[in-house]
Amino acid sequence: MSRFWSPIVAALKPYVPGEQPRMANLVKLNTNESPYGPSEKALEAIRAAADMDLRLYPDPVALGLREAIARRYGMSVGEVFVGNGSDEVLAHTFAALLKHDRPLLYPDISYSFYPTYAGLFGIEAVEIPLNADFRIEIAGYRRPAGAIILPNPNAPTGIGLPLSDIERLVSEHSDQPVVVDEAYIDFGGESAIALVPKYENLLVVQTFSKSRALAGLRVGFAIGQRPLIEALERVKDSFNSYPLGRAALAGATAAIEDEAWFEKTRAKILATRAALTKGLEARGFEVLPSQANFVFARHQNHAGQTLAAKLRERAVIVRRFAKPRIEDFLRITIGTDDECAKLVAALDEIL
Ligand code: PMP
Repeated sequence: MSRFWSPIVAALKPYVPGEQPRMANLVKLNTNESPYGPSEKALEAIRAAADMDLRLYPDPVALGLREAIARRYGMSVGEVFVGNGSDEVLAHTFAALLKHDRPLLYPDISYSFYPTYAGLFGIEAVEIPLNADFRIEIAGYRRPAGAIILPNPNAPTGIGLPLSDIERLVSEHSDQPVVVDEAYIDFGGESAIALVPKYENLLVVQTFSKSRALAGLRVGFAIGQRPLIEALERVKDSFNSYPLGRAALAGATAAIEDEAWFEKTRAKILATRAALTKGLEARGFEVLPSQANFVFARHQNHAGQTLAAKLRERAVIVRRFAKPRIEDFLRITIGTDDECAKLVAALDEIL
């Protein structure tokens, strides 16, 4: 702390990203990355982008990538915004859409970036508790609000809301922006993109970090009607007019066009998730019903902190949250079958 800091910075609780440890033979199941390499077509496009053209600035409006995303989701290019990971898209969203005189609502037990952003932008945040089954109850959001944000499926629970609930929320809050953070939507959820043509207050945010296996490239996007996207563009243009570098534009464009790779890896992750869920349940874990590329599980007799530490001694890293209500849960990313077998073998030694 220094007297030169702004009061907002002094009060900030910065987000703590998941660990990226460098250890040999590590089974890394802590940050929900894909266990599979990206599409070979994406890699080729990135390699091809590593040429003399790197001396030139990238397309300031990322037109090619936005066109590819628009085609994939049946939207028009003006309804697509792209940024460096969905975190940057969310940051621009907070700056663009949030009001300072009315609170932002989001679930209590959710993505821990939201309170950080709310703090950074000086926005009052109201956390709406999950119900006893760790589900989002949309009835809890019927209160004065400046905006609502929620992940679907929720993180770290992995539980998704049906599209009918999202639609009710969006239509009941037609005077506020409703932001649906669909970082994990491709693993079994129902995307709200289908509702965008109907609702001017809906913004859907997605990422290339999970189902496209490109967390290292940093690409995310938002889909919404033109006025919401224009607000994001105004913020972007006030910071930096290059949403993405040339390699990211090339790689992400090839990735979104590689439907075969997408379907194959997604099916594999869903099959592994089903098998891992069974394996954990057979060993005394309660596993919340996941529609994401991770499971959220707690053991009936073992504390979460102890389990996470003992797994770590065996080079298996999972994510644990110190928050009340969920301190005994482990959030376990769906790895390859081999990685999940190693996790289960380590648990068999521990339990
Ligand atoms: N939203 C949620 C719910 C997430 O879990 C994450 C990943 N930590 C993100 C957004 C951000 O992902 P990225 O910036 O890699 O797109």
